[in-house]
Amino acid sequence: MNRHALKGTIALVAILLPATLAQSDKPLPRVDHMTSAQAKARIPDRSLPDFWIGDVKGLAARFEHLERGNLTILATTPGGRPLLMVAFGSKETVAHHANFNSAIGGQKPAAYMEKAARKKPVILFIGPVHGHEVEGLTGLVNLIQIMETGKDLRGHQQERLRRLGDQCRLLIIPAGNPDGTARFEPRALQGLGDDDVRFWGQGTWTDDTFCDWPQCKQQHPMVGDNVGFLGCYFNDAGINPMHDEWFAPMGPESAAFLKVAREEGPDLAVSLHSHESKPAVYRPAYTPVEIQQDIRSLAQECYALLSQRQLPFGGLFEIRPEGGKNPESFHLTSALYHGSGAGSFTFECSHGIRGNVAVTLEQILDIQLSLYEAMLQHEINKKQ
Ligand SMILES: [Zn+2]
Repeated sequence: MNRHALKGTIALVAILLPATLAQSDKPLPRVDHMTSAQAKARIPDRSLPDFWIGDVKGLAARFEHLERGNLTILATTPGGRPLLMVAFGSKETVAHHANFNSAIGGQKPAAYMEKAARKKPVILFIGPVHGHEVEGLTGLVNLIQIMETGKDLRGHQQERLRRLGDQCRLLIIPAGNPDGTARFEPRALQGLGDDDVRFWGQGTWTDDTFCDWPQCKQQHPMVGDNVGFLGCYFNDAGINPMHDEWFAPMGPESAAFLKVAREEGPDLAVSLHSHESKPAVYRPAYTPVEIQQDIRSLAQECYALLSQRQLPFGGLFEIRPEGGKNPESFHLTSALYHGSGAGSFTFECSHGIRGNVAVTLEQILDIQLSLYEAMLQHEINKKQ
């Protein structure tokens, strides 16, 4: 079939089916290397719906005229991009006599912050620190729209979610790694293959082979003569904000996350990620068993909502101490707990990769909004 005929057929299929379903679900054949030109040629010729946010371009302008939310620029990235936060609900000032670590040493967590004296729970959302995992960016920009207008960017009424949001103080960092997201040209991985995730996520070496996991974490910052395409895991200085140096942060993004957490003392904090499998709440490593138990309960509540809405969900984690041959790393969510006492966890959404978990762009947004609903309700319940 010539190129024009092929385009005609694609256009016809696109008319007959919603854009998000107009694709085969067969896995793509695997490859062991990919050039930038090849990666770009694999990007589907489709227009993404307006509710889908896969870019940081125009993000600051979108939040310039908020009526209910407050926009703050937390930092500037190595690529010169603003790290934005939108807050809803006013800050309640409570007693604060010690940093969290010292308060724990003094056997009085409230010495760090009298969280129980606050009327509203404080919830921190950190959007994709892995720039290509834009499912969380889409979710959070929709959440901001819901808090502003009661509707998501599809125009769907979301009054229940807004009502829950109004009972909390929400701190929303929609894009956790703007440099990485700016580098992500497909704007969505839904309908693409595992190799597209590897290319855009972890990047390539100069011989065009994939950096891949775990090798992509064995060189950090990801700079040097052997780096080909810099994956969207990294900011423009090659730093993966999930694995920064917590005691002396290398990147402005993670330093800003820790500062917000320290100053606001969130009750709950999430780092939003995505992977090829079913949506899942991960065990918060290096946190006390009580925190793990609390996040496990939240995971059950979140999965119950996803199940009700016929959306996919993964398995429940087991509570356990650290250890073993390959112990967990002390990554961003661990650091957030140790700086603020927040119940802190990683959520992995589905990208909707071909041949794996088949989800549409709309379902991805519904997964995100269901998670947020479960989080808000979980913390509101504790205040009652
Ligand atoms: Zn990730």
